Order: sequence, then C-alpha cells, then structure tokens
Amino acid sequence: MSGRPVVLLEDVTKTYTQGTLAVQALRGISMAVGTGEYVAIMGPSGSGKSTLMNILGCLDVLSTGRYVLDGEDVADLDEDALAEIRNTRIGFVFQQFHLLPALPAWRNVELPLFYAGVPAAERKQRALEALARVGLAERVDHRPGELSGGQQQRVAVARALVSNPALILADEPTGNLDSASTADVLGLIDEVHAAGRTIILITHEAEVADRAERVLHVRDGRLTGAMGVR
Ligand code: ADP
Ligand code: MG
Repeated sequence: MSGRPVVLLEDVTKTYTQGTLAVQALRGISMAVGTGEYVAIMGPSGSGKSTLMNILGCLDVLSTGRYVLDGEDVADLDEDALAEIRNTRIGFVFQQFHLLPALPAWRNVELPLFYAGVPAAERKQRALEALARVGLAERVDHRPGELSGGQQQRVAVARALVSNPALILADEPTGNLDSASTADVLGLIDEVHAAGRTIILITHEAEVADRAERVLHVRDGRLTGAMGVR
C-alpha cells in the first residue's frame, strides 16, 4: 500500500442495544485500504458485513475505535457532517440499484451532484460523461424500468462515479442479477478499478470476491485469516 490509506479502521466495535439486550456485531476490526485497491469483504450471514458496510459508508456510527476516511476522522461527526461525507467522498452501489423510477438515467446519475450543490449545467454534463464511461451513452433518457437489470446497475455505477469519490462501496452489487448481467457488471467494476478507483465490495459469493485483489473474511464480528492491514 502506497501513500495514505483511503480507509483506516482501528479496533472498531459496534454494539446494538435493544432494551436490555446488547448485541456486539463488530468486535474489534482493524483494516486499511490503500488508494486504488480493490478489496472484497466476505462472510456468512450474521457475521457483521452489513454493519461494517454501514460504518464504512458513514450510514451508521461505530461504538468504539477509530475510522479515518480519506484523511478525515469520521468517528465523532454529527449527522449533517456524515451526510456531507456520504455525498462527496463515497460512491454507493447497492444490490437493489436504488434508482428513482420516475427519472431518466441522467437525472438519477446527477443526483449526488445536486445534493453537493453543483450547478445544473455542470451536473448534466458530468452525468452524461459518467453514463458514457459505463457504456450507456445511447440510454441517457431511458427510465430505469426501460433498462435491463444489468443496465440499471450500470446507471448506479455511473451515479457512484459522478462525484469523483475517494471510495466506491458496493454492497452485493450482483445479488439481483442473472449470470450474464453479473459478468457484465463485474467486468465494469474491473474497468473502474483499472481506471484507478478504490473499491470495497461486500459479498457472500466466492466467485464475486475472487475478482478483487484482496479478500477479507469476517466472522462473528472479527476479521479472520488474512490480515486486514498489510
Ligand atoms: P451480515 O450482514 O453479515 O448478515 P449484520 O451486520 O447484518 O450481518 O449483523 C451482525 C449481527 O448484528 C447479527 O447478530 C445481527 O442480528 C445483529 N444486528 C444487525 N443489525 C442490528 C440492529 N439494528 N439491532 C440489533 N442487532 C442487529
Ligand atoms: Mg447483511
């Protein structure tokens, strides 16, 4: 790993409390992901993958430990500051695509820029460029329902790229796709990685994780096997 890491977790724990019951979902996770790395996080159901993904994506906060994202300590930020980090530093790709059905592809792609306060003309230009980068230059006016599953996930990848984020976070990005579309989207993620992006992909499928340069295994809230920090 060269230079400063994009993601640095130090002894991160997360405890959920429901009434008097405490569930320790993460029990001391330390890991570093360098600029341009492609890392997969694998683990069985209930191992803590979603909890880890939510913390990495600043969708939830850790209980104890340290999280430095792109040089900024995010462990103690309030909800507004976390929202700002999500909009500017992280590109999300979800299993369910999370596209707005009433909006054409380019309007979906420009949304992160809208929330970041980028002017309209620049938003549209950057959205069209991002859609061209994922091979959808001919589909920019199509609504999600007029696109195949694989194409919808391509739109989501364009949306993840459009803000030039430090980190792309993909949560089971092929979980809703048939095998042909899965190959298509994994190929696209390989291209995004080859273009220098930093990617963390969460999956329970070994064939998907195998595409990454490094696989971290989570079990019972801990990283096992290969060390998270190298
Ligand atoms: P995975 O995504 O690997 O299936 P999760 O991160 O969803 O695992 O869950 C890890 C553990 O934390 C599980 O024991 C789960 O039941 C518990 N858990 C997850 N979310 C909550 C929550 N909101 N409240 C209480 N317990 C939770
Ligand atoms: Mg999960």
